[in-house]
Amino acid sequence: MRTADSDKEVRPLVGLRTAELRQIAIGLGERAFRGDQLAKWIYSKASTSLEQMHDLPIAFRDRLTSEGFVVSDLIVADHRHSSDDVDKLLLHNGDGQVFESVLLPYADRVSCCLSSQIGCPMACTFCATGLGGFDRNLSTCEIVGQYLALQSISKRRIGHVVFMGMGEPLLNLKSLLPAIEILHEEIGLSLRHITVSTVGLVPQIRELARLKMPIHLALSLHSPLDEIRGRLMPVNHKWPVAEVVQTMRDYHRATGRKVTFEYLLIDQMNDTPEQARLLAELVKGLPCVVNLIPFNYVDTENGWKRPSRDRVRAFRAILESRKVNVTERVERGHDIAAACGQLAGQHTGRFGRGRPLSPLPLAPSS
Ligand code: SAH
Repeated sequence: MRTADSDKEVRPLVGLRTAELRQIAIGLGERAFRGDQLAKWIYSKASTSLEQMHDLPIAFRDRLTSEGFVVSDLIVADHRHSSDDVDKLLLHNGDGQVFESVLLPYADRVSCCLSSQIGCPMACTFCATGLGGFDRNLSTCEIVGQYLALQSISKRRIGHVVFMGMGEPLLNLKSLLPAIEILHEEIGLSLRHITVSTVGLVPQIRELARLKMPIHLALSLHSPLDEIRGRLMPVNHKWPVAEVVQTMRDYHRATGRKVTFEYLLIDQMNDTPEQARLLAELVKGLPCVVNLIPFNYVDTENGWKRPSRDRVRAFRAILESRKVNVTERVERGHDIAAACGQLAGQHTGRFGRGRPLSPLPLAPSS
């Protein structure tokens, strides 16, 4: 990418570690500690421009600018605030390919949901992102940049990150792992507060287990039956239920971390008492939480809908009677289409067979 007024490359500083920022300072004739100052502005203060960094000499800031350095090349295409206090940002880096990030404040913590790819190749049949196809992987800068963009609009510190936005994070380990390192080492987040959610790519889960990174791993399971999971998630044809759950057991053994199983609930499809019983059997003895997610409506042309409260309660009761820890995701940000893939889908019109809930004008970039 090129700057508007020169043919120099745009060089985002977000995504670089303190050691690399020191090298840049030294390369421009400054002392190393200027790199530490840059890191502090970027990662501790979520500063979005060099002009704000008033304790850096103006000559150094000008030099950075003339060398093509910017804090980040992310542009906010749209910012929406929901009636229940959820913020959603739609971002791009000038190439017009948008991705989304969500800020989720709770009473006891602030969390955010980040994207790892633009679009997704996994083609889960219930997912707005999956229905729209795949564009590209996000860079480390774009992943960390989402966190910082959200932190700059958050009144409180964001202490939790979940990779449950657009994309399959384990298909982009090349950008994801450095981004996690920066979130941990530069920004100071606990690895235990970083959740990576996956469709269940066995080789990549094994790689994470080998790295012994104490992050939180979540598997989108959605049914204990191969026949049903295969209809929901094409990945199941490659790595079926028994194999992927065994891999989660091995991951737990290698890292000592409790794992999460996400379980989408679709009415009369995967919410039957039989599947609740089989699910309890499947995860028996494994320290884990099952997170129930009532289906967020996407027009899949399958006629799928969210189950009634009674059906969700009945499913949960069967799990709990078998001593499984259960949580339930409370839907928030409904009025700003905060659920996975929805807002970007509205902008690009790329909803596959699904359709946007309502049309959105593309806001001017700032
Ligand atoms: N690719 C990763 C992370 C992104 S999706 C994964 O699949 O885990 C994050 C979570 O949202 C997954 O559990 C996914 O199955 C779920 N999800 C996607 N579309 C949904 C929908 N329409 N309703 C409810 N949950 C959905």
